[in-house]
Amino acid sequence: MRFLILSENSNGGWPHLYFRSMGAFELRRRIENHGHSADILDWFTYWTDDELKKMIAYHFANEINPVIAISTPFNTTDVHKIKPVLLWAKDTYPNLKIIHGGSRTFDDSLNDLIDVFFLGRSMQMFDAWIQNNDLSQYIRHTNPLVLVNNNFDEKIDNPVLPILKDSDLLSSKDILGFEIGVGCKFNCTFCNYELRNAKITKLVDPYSLREYLNLAHKKYGITNYFASDDTLNETDEKLEIVAEALSGLDYHPQITAYARLDIINARPYQLELLGKIQFKSLFFGIESFNNEASKLVRKKSGLSDNYTTLKQIKSITPNTYTVGGIIIGLNKDSEQSIRHSVKRIVEEKLLHSLQLYPLLISKSNTITSADYLSDIDQYPEKHNYKIINVNSFHHNNKYVPIYHWQSDWTDTRGAESLRLCLENEYRDSIDMLGHLEYAGYYTLGVYNDAPYEGLKNRSFTISTQLKRNYIKKKLDAT
Ligand code: SF4
Repeated sequence: MRFLILSENSNGGWPHLYFRSMGAFELRRRIENHGHSADILDWFTYWTDDELKKMIAYHFANEINPVIAISTPFNTTDVHKIKPVLLWAKDTYPNLKIIHGGSRTFDDSLNDLIDVFFLGRSMQMFDAWIQNNDLSQYIRHTNPLVLVNNNFDEKIDNPVLPILKDSDLLSSKDILGFEIGVGCKFNCTFCNYELRNAKITKLVDPYSLREYLNLAHKKYGITNYFASDDTLNETDEKLEIVAEALSGLDYHPQITAYARLDIINARPYQLELLGKIQFKSLFFGIESFNNEASKLVRKKSGLSDNYTTLKQIKSITPNTYTVGGIIIGLNKDSEQSIRHSVKRIVEEKLLHSLQLYPLLISKSNTITSADYLSDIDQYPEKHNYKIINVNSFHHNNKYVPIYHWQSDWTDTRGAESLRLCLENEYRDSIDMLGHLEYAGYYTLGVYNDAPYEGLKNRSFTISTQLKRNYIKKKLDAT
């Protein structure tokens, strides 16, 4: 079999950024382990139809079992953009299989094109599919074939450490990912990460991580990375692995990651580890500074308050760009409490950036694994949220309604209106960027005090040029 992996991770909210997808690297590694060959075409929506056809023709000439594997995170919107190319390919290569991974829902309007949808973390299922093994335990839908792994096994799946190749055309403007361990051991009530509540059994070893960071730098000049773990500090051990990997390097990798502030609060040793690692940026899903609201969503571990921990972090790792995520609308919270915390963060400069999100309650008529829904999504009434009606659809997917809800102090519209108010009031005093967005700007060399829109536009121009350069080089190599 010969695979062409079409990967696109740069649309949706971030068309202006330039990140490499970890899913495509891991897929290629698995394909090659099974004795087949594969090439990755990144940012497939930036290719013209003719350019994509040229690459497909180059790779599949004389191939009896060609496979196009499409990787798009979270949804299938980008697949529609290359429908004419996929229809042409189906016509030209009668044995062609087209498979899709990365999404949490399937799209039945793509029935004619996609042979298999792999939902969620799919590597175990992909191994079974490529070996022609029995798939019945994974089948959730037959037309199209939709596979879901409800019994995800952390012992079988491995943390992802990409294998880099010259054909990936990497450069110093790239941000590469790595994963220390699969899953998250917590189970916050609002979280729909399917691998939460996991027993983390396999962690990457620091030696391999160091080798990876060393190779990426020596060979391709890369200095910027993201840890894809949903909670890099869920245990001290994960942070220790990062610190240990960095200790033997002759440069300092700039790493961005998700972490929990309340865990640092509960485990002060982690401050020491943060001091050693000196992250480039960190995202703290704080959710609320109100202890009662935090407890209800299971985000309160320490005894002292989050403000104190933020001050400690600031003093121990002053150059880390810190981002705090706050959910607006949680039960037991209040407008007064949220306003007070935002004001304090801004006045005391406790974070570099704030991300404010109204609470989102969603369901799906097609997702067949309850793990893709948070506890609140599944049982809103049990958590004292009243569902009023359907508010909108996720990425216009008619199968994934987002609900209009009411909590004990506000509702969907009130939460959105408070978010807008706070953003308007504070946008000149504090950034409103995510940690990955900041890392993207930083890596492209555009981060400064320019207004947000200025950053976006400059970043978009540079990243589009980088993507087009990549495409030209890929085509030149055929
Ligand atoms: S919100 Fe973060 S810490 Fe909580 S379950 Fe989800 S991934 Fe884990």
